[in-house]
Amino acid sequence: MLRIESITAGYNKSTALDRVSMTINQGTLVSVVGANGAGKSTLVNTISRMVPSYSGRILFEDRDITGLKPADVVDLGIVQVPEGRQLFAPLTVTENLRLGFHRLARRPDTAAKYAERLDYVMGLFPRLAERAGQRAGTMSGGEQQMLAVGRALMAEPRLLMLDEPSLGLAPMVVDQIFDILSTLRKDGLTILLVEQHADEALQLADYGYVMAVGQVRAEGPGNDLRTDPALTHSYLGKPTETA
Ligand code: ATP
Repeated sequence: MLRIESITAGYNKSTALDRVSMTINQGTLVSVVGANGAGKSTLVNTISRMVPSYSGRILFEDRDITGLKPADVVDLGIVQVPEGRQLFAPLTVTENLRLGFHRLARRPDTAAKYAERLDYVMGLFPRLAERAGQRAGTMSGGEQQMLAVGRALMAEPRLLMLDEPSLGLAPMVVDQIFDILSTLRKDGLTILLVEQHADEALQLADYGYVMAVGQVRAEGPGNDLRTDPALTHSYLGKPTETA
């Protein structure tokens, strides 16, 4: 579904991604793990075209999207849950969800589609349904992360990309978020998960990539990577939490 071919990208001519190649097959969950500064966020933001690339290509369903603008990438169905959630704190749960629906708002059956998506998201996250009128900024970290995922799902993504959804959350809440991702994958959604929590993210993944200093250092089935002693020792230590 998505093929990244030797992408080099970065900021002000510095290189944060160095000839990175990856493949994400339809209906699979792919995890990209690595320490702080490995280039994981840059990878996600390069796919969504918010960070420009210097060379290489990104193909989505065999179409070259390298020259597209971020809004066009969203239109194709590549939807991101950004690092730090980026919710609208003064807006309610429902208002934040409605913003996620923007991609589908021009459809002729927009009202029915909105009701269908809202129903789906509220069914997946009963906590959001209970708190539909609450302002996002007053919710717990875990609830806010559920809302950020819910907002992305309102757009009916074809590829869902999540940048560090576990950041700053208690282990039990991280488990809940990962359980939801597992459900979404079973429902057939294609997912790119970028995480410092390597062990959990690889356990969940059909396939994984290990990144360090802007490069792919290893790839393979998630369980093979997480049980490889050399990788565990060199790259997959416990994450250091940063905001
Ligand atoms: P983290 O988990 O801390 O977000 P990461 O693996 O996502 O780490 P990136 O945030 O992609 O890593 O950072 C990769 C490199 O790009 C780092 O050297 C970082 O300093 C640099 N970088 C990231 N964002 C910017 C920016 N907006 N401007 C300049 N350099 C940046």
